Amino acid sequence: MLTDKFNRIIDYVRISITDRCNLRCRYCVNEAFQYLAHDEILRYEEIIRFVRIVAQLGVKKVRLTGGEPLVRKGISYLLKTLSAIHGINDISLTTNGVFLAEKIEELKDAGLHRINISLDSLKRERFHYITQSNTFDLVLKGIDEAIRAGLNPVKINTVIIKGFNDDEIFDFAKLALDKGIHIRFIEFMPFGDSTLWDGSRIVPSDFIESLLKTKYTLEPTSNMHNGPAKMFTIEKGTGKIGFISPLSSHICSECNRIRLTSRGMIRPCLFSEDEYDVKSLLRNNRSDEEIKAFIKNTVKAKPEKKVETGFIRKCQQSMRHIGG
Ligand code: SAM
Repeated sequence: MLTDKFNRIIDYVRISITDRCNLRCRYCVNEAFQYLAHDEILRYEEIIRFVRIVAQLGVKKVRLTGGEPLVRKGISYLLKTLSAIHGINDISLTTNGVFLAEKIEELKDAGLHRINISLDSLKRERFHYITQSNTFDLVLKGIDEAIRAGLNPVKINTVIIKGFNDDEIFDFAKLALDKGIHIRFIEFMPFGDSTLWDGSRIVPSDFIESLLKTKYTLEPTSNMHNGPAKMFTIEKGTGKIGFISPLSSHICSECNRIRLTSRGMIRPCLFSEDEYDVKSLLRNNRSDEEIKAFIKNTVKAKPEKKVETGFIRKCQQSMRHIGG
């Protein structure tokens, strides 16, 4: 079992399988974003070996993210191979949804259990503005196809940003109600070089929760599969509302994850720049035992809680590398 210095059990790995993305969300990257050279990105064989090794150490859950995981060729092969690894019982994906409708059956057949789709506006013009792309209809279709394909639950991740989409909070809640899906409101975080970032644009989860309660009955519910999200049913229906509050709440004590970045670094804490180069070990034919020892040490280095100066310090890397 992988346990850190604070007795947290680490059984979940999030993997950024590429830094490439077909969208350019303004809160995630700016124009100057530099792609990694292909050779710097972990190969599938390396990701698979890494997951085999962490599974032997007790990891049960894997999430593939990016960048946009669906732009990387052969993702179904990766999913299928990871699903077959002994000990891995939950494989999920975070996607912008653009290629979802066309790939959903293939992904499901490959062993995908659950899906998170990012969507930050229900208004076409705003969607175009924030993503700098014309793919609104494709994303909506992707959501419907995921529901139709029976992926359960379908979760939508929505970053609420003051002055951009904070007037759509009720609209998103209605979507959860109407479609029986999960909407998870995420606090805007200071990552990478986003030109949009400004601490005054954070909308704290408590504010959203109170606002929604003026109109809807929200009842606390279990957060199975939702990690740090605080979950509620809405109007006693099948839809759920969740709040992910990395800035306003201390969710670190429940943290059960590490990240593997697109350049092959283990990142034990999202908010700490400390990363550990496991790619070199994977590429230099080091034994499984050596790699296990290395991983155990990186887990021991996981900080107890996020570093805070003022609200929180800005992380240098974009979520695309880290794997949001
Ligand atoms: N391309 C996929 C997608 O769009 O879901 C996966 C990668 S994306 C980096 C993963 C998640 O990170 C998305 O839900 C996105 O909204 C979130 N994200 C990126 N930058 C963020 C920021 N500055 N604050 C909060 N969430 C952010």
